[in-house]
Amino acid sequence: MKKGSIRLRLAIGMIIIMSLMALLSFLLVFYIGGQALRGTSRDFLIDAVEKNVAMIRFLPEMDDGDDNIYIAYHQGFLEIDTDFLQAMGEVYAGLYSPEGSLLYGENPLAKQSQTEDFLESKLWQIQADGASYMVYDRKINCGDGEVLWIRGVVSESEILGQMNRMMSASLYILPLLIIFGALIISALASRFLQPLQSMEETVRHISQSGVLKERVRVPDRGDEITSLAGSFNSMLNQLEESFERERRFTSDASHELRTPVTVMLAQTEYTLEAERSPEAYREALQVVQHQGRRMKRLIGDMLDYSRMDLSAERYPLTLLDLSELVQETAQTLESLGDEEARYEIHVEENIRIMGNEDLLVRLVMNLVSNAFRYSEAPARVTVGLRRRGQEALLWVEDHGIGIPEEEQEKIFERFYRSDNSRSAEGTGLGLSLVKKISEIHNGKIELESAVGEGSCFTIHFPLV
Ligand code: ADP
Repeated sequence: MKKGSIRLRLAIGMIIIMSLMALLSFLLVFYIGGQALRGTSRDFLIDAVEKNVAMIRFLPEMDDGDDNIYIAYHQGFLEIDTDFLQAMGEVYAGLYSPEGSLLYGENPLAKQSQTEDFLESKLWQIQADGASYMVYDRKINCGDGEVLWIRGVVSESEILGQMNRMMSASLYILPLLIIFGALIISALASRFLQPLQSMEETVRHISQSGVLKERVRVPDRGDEITSLAGSFNSMLNQLEESFERERRFTSDASHELRTPVTVMLAQTEYTLEAERSPEAYREALQVVQHQGRRMKRLIGDMLDYSRMDLSAERYPLTLLDLSELVQETAQTLESLGDEEARYEIHVEENIRIMGNEDLLVRLVMNLVSNAFRYSEAPARVTVGLRRRGQEALLWVEDHGIGIPEEEQEKIFERFYRSDNSRSAEGTGLGLSLVKKISEIHNGKIELESAVGEGSCFTIHFPLV
């Protein structure tokens, strides 16, 4: 067991708590038990003496024909019933003459208490041979003016001694029980904390190897620790997925950036190989400028994409008027078409959704600019928004070049550009951003398109 491990701490805690509890119960049992025993013995003593009072009679003559005990006393006899209790348990009783001589019965303190005066119906204590005794005296009038005493004695030390024996027996048993309890707790803790131990090992292996493949073994118990281990595994899954996404993105991005850089380098190297005419330099610079712009667009789109991909929580959703947002954004894009373009906006009013304004503006802009870019002049583009059941439908329709059926899924992938669109400027990231934004809004994208006829992109947003 590791020093400082939870198992060890639990076991030590258990030993401390159990020892304290045992000590406390010891003291309580000792105090309350002692009081109770003392009270019981006192009652027992008084009861025994009182009972004996009725067992003594003074007779001038002996009564023949019964089993009673007769002791010659003064001018007659003392008749003592056979039920006279001389010793009962720890209680002893003796019959005394007024002068203090024992006539009948037993008294373990006969000598020590000889000099003590009788005290009628009084309970008192006497110390003898290092022990403590309770004494109870009772006067008897036997008739004919005869007065006798019964003295009852019970040893307090004897009573407490019994308790002491009981307690010292438990002094041996309790530590064993405590150690046994601590062992059980430690074994249980080790069983229940196994997923934590496995988590610690997994984290250590991952940080040593840098590979996110390993997972924690989760026993099928359904308690808090196993559910923590389950959450830990799903966090590792998400991390692994997101690292993989980032890795793929980095490799795609560097691949995409390599093309304009290669073109720029080739162009500048070729131009610098020999003395060129001013016209040739101008052309070369134009190529570099074109590729530079393309890189700028790529870098901007990539940055947006990775931000959105890695931390959707940076874009909080609030209740907003989608009708207003679509209307205003669509209007600002009118300039994308030429003079002959037909651009229509049909927006139903007061449609509200939970959304992020920045992202939704970006979504509308991407779809509308694609509609213009992939249409031959004069372009015919429609932007619409309407309510249908529990959904808001936003659509952007064009009558442009259209998308072949086999490409209709692929165009939402990063950096994918269809062959028939190579002539238009673009990065291949616009629609993947649109897809991501609609996912952040719990929306769904639908595409209807036919080559040479046009395309219609529809996004379904849930209404609030
Ligand atoms: P980009 O437009 O920058 O190339 P997108 O991700 O926006 O990147 O689009 C990916 C591809 O989908 C485009 O290259 C184009 O081939 C195709 N596409 C997108 N919108 C349309 C559209 N309205 N009409 C025809 N093709 C489209």
